[in-house]
Amino acid sequence: MSSSTLLPGATLGVLGGGQLGRMFCMAARTMGYRTVVLDPDPNSPAGEVADQHLQADYTQKDALAEMAELCDAITTEFENVPAESLKFLSSHKPVHPSAEAVAIARHRIQEKDYARDSGLNPAPYALIQSAEDFDAAMAITGLPGIIKTTTLGYDGKGQQVINDKAELQAAFNELGQVECVLEQKMDLALEISVLLARNSAGEVACYPPAENEHVNGVLHKSIVPARVDEVIAERARQQATGLAEKINYVGVLAVEFFITTDNQLIFNEMAPRPHNSGHYTMDAAVVSQFEQQVRVMCGLTPGDARLISPVVMINLLGDLWPVNWQTCLSNTSLKLHLYGKHEARAGRKMGHFNLLSSDIDQAIAAADRLFEQF
Ligand code: ADP
Ligand code: MG
Repeated sequence: MSSSTLLPGATLGVLGGGQLGRMFCMAARTMGYRTVVLDPDPNSPAGEVADQHLQADYTQKDALAEMAELCDAITTEFENVPAESLKFLSSHKPVHPSAEAVAIARHRIQEKDYARDSGLNPAPYALIQSAEDFDAAMAITGLPGIIKTTTLGYDGKGQQVINDKAELQAAFNELGQVECVLEQKMDLALEISVLLARNSAGEVACYPPAENEHVNGVLHKSIVPARVDEVIAERARQQATGLAEKINYVGVLAVEFFITTDNQLIFNEMAPRPHNSGHYTMDAAVVSQFEQQVRVMCGLTPGDARLISPVVMINLLGDLWPVNWQTCLSNTSLKLHLYGKHEARAGRKMGHFNLLSSDIDQAIAAADRLFEQF
């Protein structure tokens, strides 16, 4: 342990007050750290559980200065935090992940470039800045393709499938003619994600891949361990670790992969933070992804990422509200996590549950049955 290691009693800051920030704060407080959240929303889920909530915009200079003053180290819960703010904070206090790493992960072309240069295999892709790029891009990707804005897309938003040049033009217009990436639409057998934590000494803890099912572009269910060939699972872990090393990443990193119907492992995207598909770690891994975020920003060795039990995580969206809690909580296996959001809206992530079982098929069946009751 170096002299710069932060121990319980130190103050940890997080930019962003959503559910990821909230679960970070809860892990940090459990471990004896003080927490500060920066978020403009007076009712932010993380602000309500932090020791201190700085209610201000992410670019507000005096709030950033106060954050730098209050905190011994700072992290972020989302990749769209302004780069200038991260740079400002890092000129005063340790910030993990770095502004540079966040900048790569928030940009679809940059993350694919780095992934390819690290030996990973993204779907064929090309930059689109104007209609003049269409022909060359389609020649690289083939058809059908998927056009995505290079930044700010999430939960399937900011992207469209295109089958020909006319559809590409229409989609590009609809996306506001902002900078985009066109990529080949792959035939997917499965989607998986690999979560890891890496500290500044280069020590890595890597979780087993999660198998992810999406509904309407939003993660619905994660199944762990993923039902994939052990060789592919190990390759995904190696590739995610290699990518983290390549960009000298310090923090919690999630890497999404596709497995195609012809069994290729394709890099999709990465997130420089804990990830929805890693929420199972809160109940089914020795050390959770949020504890890892604390450990790594404090300069500690990443914790044990071993799975304790097969597990299924299911997201609870606002569409399910109002919920009959009496019925749901009568199930004694329910591990419920709610984010304290005051208002349930369609599509809004309100919480999730984890269901553990000694057998993964039983866990899936039980989780599906339980979800039916919501
Ligand atoms: P987001 O940032 O919204 O998660 P993704 O790039 O992960 O965006 O895309 C969302 C989903 O769309 C993926 O999980 C996958 O189901 C599908 N998808 C994205 N890119 C491709 C592709 N190249 N081929 C096939 N399906 C894709
Ligand atoms: Mg994704």
